[in-house]
Amino acid sequence: NNYTREDILRLVEEEDVEFIRLQFTDIFGTMKNVAVTTSQLEKALNNKCMFDGSSIEGFARIEQSDMYLYPDLNTFEIFPWRPQQGKVARMICDVHRPDGTPFDSDPRYVLKRVLEDARSDGYEFNVGPECEFFLFETDEDGQPTTRTHENASYFDLGPLDFGENARRDMVLTLEDMGFEIEASHHEAAPGQHEIVFRYDEGLATADNIMTFKLVVKTIAKRHGLHATFMPKPNLGANGSGMHLNMTLNRDGVNVFTDNFDEKGLSKEAYYFIGGIMKHMKAITFITNPTVNSYKRLIPGYEAPVYIAWSETNRTPLIRIPAAGEESRIELRSPDPSANPYLALAVCLAAGLDGIRNEIMPPESVDTNIYKLTQKERERMGIDSLPGSLLEAAREFEKDTFIKDVLGKELAEKYIAAKKEEYRQYRAQITEWEIQKYLRVI
Ligand code: GLU
Ligand code: MG
Ligand code: MG
Repeated sequence: NNYTREDILRLVEEEDVEFIRLQFTDIFGTMKNVAVTTSQLEKALNNKCMFDGSSIEGFARIEQSDMYLYPDLNTFEIFPWRPQQGKVARMICDVHRPDGTPFDSDPRYVLKRVLEDARSDGYEFNVGPECEFFLFETDEDGQPTTRTHENASYFDLGPLDFGENARRDMVLTLEDMGFEIEASHHEAAPGQHEIVFRYDEGLATADNIMTFKLVVKTIAKRHGLHATFMPKPNLGANGSGMHLNMTLNRDGVNVFTDNFDEKGLSKEAYYFIGGIMKHMKAITFITNPTVNSYKRLIPGYEAPVYIAWSETNRTPLIRIPAAGEESRIELRSPDPSANPYLALAVCLAAGLDGIRNEIMPPESVDTNIYKLTQKERERMGIDSLPGSLLEAAREFEKDTFIKDVLGKELAEKYIAAKKEEYRQYRAQITEWEIQKYLRVI
């Protein structure tokens, strides 16, 4: 979309829009919004709508809590699931301070800064995400469970696939909101699904991921199901990833492609991979930001564990999918609990660092890494992803380059909150421990 202020006023009038939701995202990736009626539309378009930043996780301190919402007109969309008379529309907003300057810890602004940095070198960043999720049953009180009555697996169809009606509705709703859906299917685990939408420019993709989650959760609820993007809800089954397929364009041409190279990759592509691998442990803190994220990153469930890249094999962290003329880089570690703005920001920044400093990645690994012994991996110099949220936090603290991408204030708040999250988790006495120790010790 490329809307002017007049377009918005006209659309609101023509479409009989009654409510406007002004949306933004907190530092942990939770969407927030405030609704205004059309009587306040002028005010909203004049960037005069305010909220209390101190009530939003990770935002301002109490003493300077007034924040202003600057709607991004191009994100205007109508919610197809709300009443069709007196409709509800939304705009995604940037967060600004009372003096008009952008708020440094607004995740959308963090991503905008890195995209701008890439643009200064002539690059446009394109990302195609693959968001996986689970559809679970709710109990008598309407509370979510981790139960599913189905037993379908990868690419199965109805009647085995018990989420097909919900998924159909999700796809149609997303299309109504301007998404181009490339594919939707049942995933490997019971109750697990995937809907793939077309790649877009970085900021639009991060916005799209936020919208996608809202739509999936909303439509699931209408089907009496609970949709979750929790990375690993069930032991012994695949978790949910959010693979990121990345390319850089210059003047509309993909700069990762080089048909004279044996792998079809340009120098920029190799360096981009090199940069990501160099900063991977710190990146993981942002792309896998929950205690539960690390339950997914174990062998045997199509999720990566080792820091390696491959052209052919699916086990490594970074894969070069066979994509015909266009080469792209698929990062397989991110999961959908990540804040998409921050996740895209750190990946792009690391890739740019690779290009600017000509960081060559190690040799690609085209065997099944899980079949290698630890000795063999050591000999090949293959390192592992952080094994826990705490380990990731420590790696992040050490990587000043990645920390700087987020900015001092955001980084500090994020680290403090995640360490506290880990501390709470560490204090838990799990069912596993009781089973393991109670009798024998
Ligand atoms: N669900 C797997 C993961 O945890 C990915 C499966 C796939 O390759 O689509 O990343
Ligand atoms: Mg998948
Ligand atoms: Mg994939």
